[in-house]
Amino acid sequence: MKILDPERMDELPGRRLGPDESFCFECRPDLECFGQCCRNLNLFLYPYDVLRLRKNLGMTSGQFVDRHTHAVLRPGSHFPDLLLGMEENEEKTCPFLGRGLCRVYADRPDACRTFPVELGLITGPEGEAGQVAFFRPPDFCQGKDQERTFTVETWEKDQNALVHHRMTAQWGRLMAHFSVDPWGGEGPSGPRARMAFMATYNLDEFRRFVRESSFLKRHDVPRDVVKKIRTDDLELLGLGMDWVRLFLWGIPSRRVRPR
Ligand code: SF4
Ligand code: SF4
Repeated sequence: MKILDPERMDELPGRRLGPDESFCFECRPDLECFGQCCRNLNLFLYPYDVLRLRKNLGMTSGQFVDRHTHAVLRPGSHFPDLLLGMEENEEKTCPFLGRGLCRVYADRPDACRTFPVELGLITGPEGEAGQVAFFRPPDFCQGKDQERTFTVETWEKDQNALVHHRMTAQWGRLMAHFSVDPWGGEGPSGPRARMAFMATYNLDEFRRFVRESSFLKRHDVPRDVVKKIRTDDLELLGLGMDWVRLFLWGIPSRRVRPR
């Protein structure tokens, strides 16, 4: 989900979809293009994607990030995004494409779920955020010539993408803060940036950090949150994002505040 400049929305490619506007689409294995869209992609992964994929693949989040992603700084951002690495074959296929099918389908990333719709986030002066959607199938996609129709809402339900979109929107709101450099002289690979990276992309390490360091002595975290994060990855990710907000910008939340 990109952070969009409301002044430049008209320059974006694709058809903007209002809440009641529909689009035709159906993706089926009998279409000639089946699997063609899983190649040579700039596929950005958000923290919730990493959580789901690492579980699907039986890896830790650290192993997943090391093995499958590249950290990149997008223009105008001071915190890295993660790009999924493609296979080093001629077609640069997605590493999770096997015999024409997605091997991680139940836990496929948000961008794959939402495709060929792309979502963007516009943030206002008070940090409030609104979501915008664009219909952007590539020319070769035959799904757009089929008869089924969806709105953004019915597509989101059809693709079981509600939690992904909620978590990606939370992530987008946090990323919007990074349009201003919070690192001072340290830069985006300094010690504080590494902590923020751990608390969002490397959740297994963050869980260990919360439980084994002095974190809970230095921060006021409600008991129900401490209990939940033992097993609940969503709550842990929520705590990670809230903590980044606290230690970089001093913004407290229900989950975490200074003692
Ligand atoms: S190109 Fe379109 S219709 Fe073809 S597999 Fe991809 S999403 Fe489905
Ligand atoms: S994760 Fe699955 S759906 Fe997404 S690009 Fe890879 S193979 Fe295709």
